[in-house]
Amino acid sequence: MSENVYEIYENKAHLARKSADRRSAEVWAMDKRIAEIDKELSATGLKLLSAALLDDGKREEAYKRLEADIFALRDEKKKRLIALGLPEDYTDVKYQCEKCSDTGYVGIKMCECMKRALTKQNYKSSGIGKYLEGQTFDNFDLSLYPFGEARENMSRIFNQARSFADSFSPDSSESLFFMGGTGLGKTHLSSAIAKEVIEKGYSVVYDSAQNIISTFERERFARDESVLKSQKYFDAQLLIIDDFGTEIQSKSSISYFYTLINTRLISSKPTIISTNLSGKELNSQYDSRIVSRILGEYTIRQFMGEDIRKLKK
Ligand SMILES: [Zn+2]
Repeated sequence: MSENVYEIYENKAHLARKSADRRSAEVWAMDKRIAEIDKELSATGLKLLSAALLDDGKREEAYKRLEADIFALRDEKKKRLIALGLPEDYTDVKYQCEKCSDTGYVGIKMCECMKRALTKQNYKSSGIGKYLEGQTFDNFDLSLYPFGEARENMSRIFNQARSFADSFSPDSSESLFFMGGTGLGKTHLSSAIAKEVIEKGYSVVYDSAQNIISTFERERFARDESVLKSQKYFDAQLLIIDDFGTEIQSKSSISYFYTLINTRLISSKPTIISTNLSGKELNSQYDSRIVSRILGEYTIRQFMGEDIRKLKK
């Protein structure tokens, strides 16, 4: 039910041990001797402890005897399991990941298996569809931009975007404002950044301005929801707002955006906003409080040139 990776991991090792316990109980019912063996084996820890308290001379000898006992007991158990037609490791705890025993951590470092699970979860919750996932830095084609100023400009923006993704930090990366007409690669670069940041294990939410407004609007009329869907826009370590300026503007939409943009700025959470509107259009069409917040605090990237989607054809 729960989709949270941390919660899943908290339970994982516990479940692995529980299912081993179940297999043990099953085996004990079939073979009483195995139950005795397991009892003796689980008592060896205590025996080792008391051996440690012996005098130097006797200690070694006690250790050796215990070791031989354990070996003999394990061997007998193996044989009895095989005689029952079961694998010899049938009652062992079986972790999905042996490196971290399903705890998600090796020492204090996060295990690769947990990183992969987080990445998967982050893709799922990011709102990045299959189409956008395919837009990467590798397949961004600079040669589509006309040679000269447009390409130089694009190549600069491209490199800046890549270094933004490479050095992404959820509490110190700058916020970006992508400006320029349609079809100049704003969405492509935003998705490429999103993908890289997700691969690093950070949470990303990618959505259009209109969708964000609709989410807020829906919640205004359904207050009983215990978990607000709009919370993800505040929580995401990177928020990408696409098509800013195409949403229907109203008093409430302005206040949603102002709150969102402002809250993220105050808590130093990076946001990328892209718009097809020119500076002039922004100033004339948009609420000045929001425009001045963005222009004042975001790093502006001006995309130039013709719609490259037309050039691709
Ligand atoms: Zn692991």
